[in-house]
Parts: sequence; structure tokens; C-alpha cells
Amino acid sequence: MAELEGKVAIVTGASSGIGEATVMQLAARGATVVAAARRADRLEALAARVVAAGGRCETAVSDLADAEAARALVQGVATRHRRLDLLVNNAGAMRNAFLAGAAPADLDAMLDLNVRGLIAACQAALSPMRESGGGHIVNVASVAAWLCTPGAATYSATKAAVRAFSEALRKEAIRFGIRVTVISPGVVATELTDHIADARIRSAYLQWTEGFEPLQSEDVADAIVWAATRPARVGVNEIVLRPLGQD
Ligand code: NDP
Repeated sequence: MAELEGKVAIVTGASSGIGEATVMQLAARGATVVAAARRADRLEALAARVVAAGGRCETAVSDLADAEAARALVQGVATRHRRLDLLVNNAGAMRNAFLAGAAPADLDAMLDLNVRGLIAACQAALSPMRESGGGHIVNVASVAAWLCTPGAATYSATKAAVRAFSEALRKEAIRFGIRVTVISPGVVATELTDHIADARIRSAYLQWTEGFEPLQSEDVADAIVWAATRPARVGVNEIVLRPLGQD
């Protein structure tokens, strides 16, 4: 039997990059995966690929920068399936800009999605996971949580928040049989940098990353799925993975 047969998982930010790769890998191990993001067409295409490969995937179109929507997503899945085993909070935005000229809407977009939506989803997951006899929350942070560079102040702040929040939640959730894991990747080749509006920051970032081969989304999905498939007695607190050439 596949390792995750009978398990119900939610992956946020599933319409591209790390989330998309994670959905494919979880479904290949037998989980029923709910793929959430805003772009319905991308989610539908992903679900079709999962089904074609013999897996189970549902789509949930949701703006997870809205904390109420994040709660509703988690509660809705748990109610429909009468269980929730795994929540991968992967959706994230990196709208880097020097603070002096940053658009307030970009700052809010990062804070609302990377922090508020993630916290709301975690909170909503506790009760159904407890009722399922345990569960696993995987929160995607970044090495940017401690590698802080000009132009990335707010992004770094959100990822430091994810780490700090997750570490305290890990201790709170132990008594419910819920595991909490942080995944902190270095540079991954995804669409994330496409949303950097400031041309100087974008070109500096691209110049820097030309110096090494970035991780692929599948590399990070491997780490997420590895953590999620350890025996229940094993708590994987954090995985940090960087491209070999990234210092
Ligand atoms: P992508 O841009 O490919 O993926 C981001 C995902 O988040 C997309 O599926 C996007 O879907 C979703 N998303 C964005 N805004 C919202 C929203 N308001 N509501 C719901 N979903 C939203 O980038 P990555 O795969 O790289 O990013 C995944 C995670 O990995 C992020 O948390 C990122 O911070 C983190 N990370 C990435 C690194 C990298 O170098 N790429 C390094 C370290 C960490 P849609 O637009 O359809 O809503």
C-alpha cells in the first residue's frame, strides 16, 4: 500500500513551483490532495495531471491572503473528508522593494499571505487534526529568515515570523499528536521572482543567482514529502536546503 493511502492533505500555493511539485509527489504516494491557490486554470491542469497519473486531487480556488478564506479552506476540507492529516502552507509572495519606495499594497500582500493567512490555516487545522488522532503541519519559510539583504526586509521579516511561529506551535501541538515542520529553502527556480516590481532588485537577484545552479521545485517537494512520510514518532523540526553553490 502507498505510504499516504487514506490520508487527506492540503497544499497551498499549488498552482506553480514548489506547491505544484509537492501535490504531484503526495498524490503519487496515495494521498488525496487538495490543491489551493488563486489561478483556477493552473489548478485544474494540475489536477488533471494527477488523475492521469492515477492519483486523487481536488482544487480549491482561494485568496489565502484573506485569513478568513484560509480558515474556510481548511475547515471545508476537514468537514468534507471528515479528517485532515497534512497541511502544507507553501503559498508565499516575495514583492521585494527598498522600504523607502515600497508600495504599501506589496508590503501588505506579503504580511497577509506569508504570515496572517498561514497562521489562520494552522489554527483551523488543529481541531480536525486532533480529531483525526494526529496530523502534520509543514510551513515553508526560507533561508531569507536569517539571510537579510537590502530590499528584502519585509519578506525576510515574514519568513522569520514563520520560523518563530512554527517553533512555538510545534511545542503547543505535541500534546495533540500534531507534528510541525519548517522547510527553509535557498534559491529555487520558480516564478517567485517574477513578481519583484523593482527592476534594480530583480536584476541584482538574477545576477547573483547566475553564479550557481538553483534548486528545482522537485528538490524541495522531496524534502516536504520525506518529512511527511517519517514514522509518527519522528518529529522533523526544520530542513534547510540550499543549492550547492549558494553560500
Ligand atoms: P511560486 O511563485 O511559483 O509559487 C507561489 C504560489 O503561491 C503560487 O501557487 C501562487 O498561486 C500562490 N499564491 C500567491 N499569492 C497567493 C494568494 N494571495 N492566495 C493563494 N495563493 C497565492 O513560487 P515558489 O514555488 O518558489 O514559492 C513557494 C514558497 O516557497 C513560498 O512561500 C516562497 O516564499 C518559498 N520559497 C521560495 C524560494 C525560491 O527561491 N523560489 C526560496 C525560499 C522559499 P496563485 O498566483 O495562483 O495564487
